[in-house]
Amino acid sequence: MGFVILILGGTAEGRRLAEELVGRDAVLSLAGRTRAPLVAGEVRIGGFGGVDGLRDYLRGRRVTAVVDATHPFADRMSANAAMACAVEGVALMRLVRPSWAAHPLSETWRWVDGHDDAARLTATLGARPLLTVGRQHTPDYVADLANHDLLARVAERPSAFLPANWTLITSRGPFTLDGERALMTAHRIDVLVAKDAGGSHTDAKLTAAAERGSAVVMIRRPPSPAGVPEVGDVAGALAWLG
Ligand code: NAP
Repeated sequence: MGFVILILGGTAEGRRLAEELVGRDAVLSLAGRTRAPLVAGEVRIGGFGGVDGLRDYLRGRRVTAVVDATHPFADRMSANAAMACAVEGVALMRLVRPSWAAHPLSETWRWVDGHDDAARLTATLGARPLLTVGRQHTPDYVADLANHDLLARVAERPSAFLPANWTLITSRGPFTLDGERALMTAHRIDVLVAKDAGGSHTDAKLTAAAERGSAVVMIRRPPSPAGVPEVGDVAGALAWLG
């Protein structure tokens, strides 16, 4: 029997791993929420249908190893993968960017556990927030911040209604320090809201915010599934796959 790899993606790391595995029996799975990236290898799109659907897929494709390269905040998919792989006896590794909890500025941030707390706290910390929490959760901030001059940056435009005094910009990064400085200066940002995405792809905003003395509201990651080994980069995942 061959060695069949399933990559649960939706991140830059998932895409890069898929590119590294071209020529091997590997499938990149995407939720289908955003435009599909151009990847050379095999791609499947859409949910599996919960744990049972994923178990069926693992059996049907005779998957022997799963790399969970979903975003650190995609906790439902990670939990489903942990459950399905345990039951089906399939090896599972989580590829996840190291948290910003160890970032040199982390002690200066206001850490919160979720978007509701982040929205309430942000309302008290500044008048001109920069919101960088992703398309799905941007609308969660409307109730608390509708009257703020808010700048929301998302990879793709949310479908929900957003207040007229909010400015929306779409961009995927990576973002440079000079670019982040210019953006925050142009919009006179006084508070930044971010999720602990980790890694270096989007961390320039943290330095730019500190330089201008803006408050930072940081949303903690959901807990990782218990017992699943983790690597922090694509090289680590490749080493594990052997
Ligand atoms: P989630 O809440 O953990 O997952 C919700 C459902 O979406 C899952 O139960 C699964 O549906 C489906 N799904 C998620 N990832 C999938 C994948 N790679 N392949 C096939 N189905 C997948 O996830 P989310 O937070 O909505 O994120 C959706 C996707 O966007 C993920 O791939 C994630 O890596 C990416 N992403 C998320 C964030 C974020 O902040 N959450 C940021 C950047 C990128 P079924 O139960 O039907 O299988």
